[in-house]
Amino acid sequence: MAGYDFDLLVIGAGSGGVRAARMSAAQGIKVGIIEDRYWGGTCVNVGCVPKKLYSYAAHFAEDFADAAGYGWSISKPEFSWPTLRDNRAAEILRLNGVYNRLLEGSGVQRIEGRGKILSAHTVQVGDKTWSSERLLIATGSWPFIPDFPGAEFCITSNEIFDLPEFPKRFLVYGGGYIAVEFASIFNGLGAETTLVYRGDKVLRGFDEEARSFAQDEIKGHGISLLLGCEILRIDRHLNALAVTLSDGRTLEVDAVLSATGRRGNVTDLGLENVGIKTNKNGEITVDTNFCTTIPSIYALGDVTGGPQLTPVALAEAMTLVHNLYSEEENRVMDYANIPTAVFCHPNIGTVGLSEEKAREVYKSIRVYSTRFKPMRNTLSGNEGRCLMKLVVDDASDKVVGCHVVGADAGELVQGIGIAVKAGLTKADFDATIGIHPTSAEELVTLRTLTRR
Ligand code: NDP
Repeated sequence: MAGYDFDLLVIGAGSGGVRAARMSAAQGIKVGIIEDRYWGGTCVNVGCVPKKLYSYAAHFAEDFADAAGYGWSISKPEFSWPTLRDNRAAEILRLNGVYNRLLEGSGVQRIEGRGKILSAHTVQVGDKTWSSERLLIATGSWPFIPDFPGAEFCITSNEIFDLPEFPKRFLVYGGGYIAVEFASIFNGLGAETTLVYRGDKVLRGFDEEARSFAQDEIKGHGISLLLGCEILRIDRHLNALAVTLSDGRTLEVDAVLSATGRRGNVTDLGLENVGIKTNKNGEITVDTNFCTTIPSIYALGDVTGGPQLTPVALAEAMTLVHNLYSEEENRVMDYANIPTAVFCHPNIGTVGLSEEKAREVYKSIRVYSTRFKPMRNTLSGNEGRCLMKLVVDDASDKVVGCHVVGADAGELVQGIGIAVKAGLTKADFDATIGIHPTSAEELVTLRTLTRR
């Protein structure tokens, strides 16, 4: 590191940045990490973690309703937003402390402030300039809000967790992960919830059958879905926001969440000072070794425009650190068969190809699909149903896709993800003994071909 302050200087202490910093420091090299806002990044502070806590909170509504059929009488449960909000804040503070201790314990130097790249080896933070043999940009992504009159009245996932008051009438704009998750959360917590989406079916890109099924279930939970619809303007009235929609309606609500995608967080990062190449959304272009167009500067995670998922950023960080600091042969990050879950109610868990994609990739496929009422929903009278689906390449018999819509689908599909990643066949699934009585056993007892 001749003459440099660090061997590796990471900009951004989110999932990918922290993992890269800690793992490199463990190799004995000198590492610094710069962060100006959230130690632990989006995931810990305003993303996956607090979202899951709120999702748990929202699930209680259904649990209370289900309990009666099982013999419990519960006086009308009441929900306190300040209690949930403040307990969540305390838990996140605890996690911030854990992150900081992990970094310090691994010998990484923490630098607070906004980092701006000045040259291929230097970053300015406040009035100090730090130098490093290598720089790693791991600044993540930032919510994008479309441009329309009154867009400034929208909140994003950055603000939603800390709303001073619970929005009794809640509108979500968008049809992706964040939109359906927060629609389910606020609906479960008792808000009158509307989801406005420009497309005709939420969750574009997911398996069509799973999307349709999930959409019907979401509707069944009481969320009002306005599809093929856009927000034209938002006006502030005395005690409400008036949202004018492209279908001619105006809705009065207490809060509007814009969940319309996230873009690479490159604002004021100084990319222009070194001429790093970016794509049309401003995300940083990298090669298979996460190197930008400047040989000493690397980038990974959301800021590179890949799958915006914490476990992907973590895996990228591990790959990069291995390639930079280990004697072993370089690894190439494998983006195939990334399992993912959407924590709407019910959850969606998915790994591998959608039926539609599999039809493009393989000459012939087999689809096994079943819908049923989970046993838990019998005595409760809960109308919720569950979908389980396997997509199989006919020639090799390999299971190339698994899609589940139902309670804890994410937990279930994590295990199936191993089987799909390992290239196991439908015969392997069939040879596996089920765990009875579970919903998941359907996945090893699916014998009737639904379609080819
Ligand atoms: P998504 O990309 O998932 O969804 C964005 C939505 O906004 C889409 O429905 C899109 O419509 C719509 N949209 C985009 N631009 C406009 C516009 N100009 N006007 C109106 N609507 C628009 O992004 P999210 O914000 O939901 O989440 C960001 C990412 O974060 C996700 O992609 C995911 O990778 C990650 N995430 C993961 C979670 C998990 O793992 N459980 C949870 C939350 C987020 P269209 O479909 O027509 O393009």
